[in-house]
Amino acid sequence: MRDLSKDHGLLSINTATVRKQWRLDTIIDECARRGIRAISPWRDQVAEIGLEAVARRLRDHDMALSGYCRGGFFPAADAAGLRAALEDNRRAVDEARTLDAPCLVLVVGSLPGALQGAPAYTGMARARAEVRDGIAATLEYARAVGMPLAIEPLHPMQAAERACVNTLEQALDLCDELDPGRTGMLGVAVDVYHVWWDPKLHAQIRRAGRDRLLAYHVCDWLAPTKDLLNDRGMMGDGVIELRAIRREMESAGYAGYCEVEIFSDAWWARAGGEVLDTCIQRHSSVV
Ligand code: ZN
Repeated sequence: MRDLSKDHGLLSINTATVRKQWRLDTIIDECARRGIRAISPWRDQVAEIGLEAVARRLRDHDMALSGYCRGGFFPAADAAGLRAALEDNRRAVDEARTLDAPCLVLVVGSLPGALQGAPAYTGMARARAEVRDGIAATLEYARAVGMPLAIEPLHPMQAAERACVNTLEQALDLCDELDPGRTGMLGVAVDVYHVWWDPKLHAQIRRAGRDRLLAYHVCDWLAPTKDLLNDRGMMGDGVIELRAIRREMESAGYAGYCEVEIFSDAWWARAGGEVLDTCIQRHSSVV
């Protein structure tokens, strides 16, 4: 198991963690100033600054990406919606290429319109079929330009609105179906917040192996959790066995960054510098 206590060379910051405090250009500068060598930005944050300007700033700081957030949301109410989703995913793949991301993270979507409070239909089987077809079509394009896709299973509490892929096993079944050759172009993003509770977690990480383990997201699960989306904990403040999960990831061959991704009203209310400094400290002590 890698020793994170000496430095924070393996730390990446998912830029949603400080999105309420700073724009992306400032986030990049503040991370660079602290010796943080990687980030994972969101498309809306990139669009606000401009894709080329972000790419330039990353190069200037010699900063890497640990992933690009995000593609997905494949299901739609009708054929036009399905087509629009595929076009948007191709644009996301292109942006990830421009930023030299190691993978495009997919939050696959679920019942269309559910996030806005008006689901267009109610069949999970249909949503899952549309997700499968959407990933298959996007994978074809992603292969052509060399951008791996990382399916991120989300906690089942988000099964209606954000993702109908809810366990690592389910994500890996999709990978095996759509990429049976394990080409490295389709894998998973393991986010401890979504999968920590799963009795099959360790076995599925071993099943995934190096070819499929494309990203690793850390934070913590607060007990009790007060909000389904924006009450993630800082590493060390909750009940997730972070060391045990990372040990499994690394013994399965994962050699990438530990990406801190915290959506939290409490942490968004603190000064950005304090949040980053805490991430660095916890990364070296509890991740
Ligand atoms: Zn995540």
